[in-house]
Amino acid sequence: MDCIFCKIVNGEIPSSKVYEDDKVYAFNDINPQSDRHILVIPKEHICCANRIDETNSSLVAHIFEVIPKIAAQEGLEFYRIINNCGEKAGQTVMHLHFHILSGENLGERLV
Ligand code: 5GP
Ligand code: ZN
Repeated sequence: MDCIFCKIVNGEIPSSKVYEDDKVYAFNDINPQSDRHILVIPKEHICCANRIDETNSSLVAHIFEVIPKIAAQEGLEFYRIINNCGEKAGQTVMHLHFHILSGENLGERLV
């Protein structure tokens, strides 16, 4: 499958790893939008939030268990979690991912 995040998971494309376990991979965004910008993805290919269902939602629950661990590991006291679902919402990589944004330059605006 021609998916850049699957290629990152299997090491075909290099990345700056932040966290990894058997189900989840997290790495620094190549084009950070804040002081710290980390992407958290399931290793399994799920195209977007619209494809979360009862067969794979435990993976998403696991991601949200991992996020506080990443925050503690990276010393992030505050952060924003973002998911873009669909091209018109700004999703450019069709592999489910959650952005963790942190840093003093975080604004209050959601959009
Ligand atoms: P989206 O716009 O789909 O919500 O977010 C995709 C994110 O993936 C963007 O923030 C973009 O900078 C990041 N990204 C795209 N290609 C790569 C890559 O090859 N390596 C890394 N580390 N990040 C990438
Ligand atoms: Zn993928």
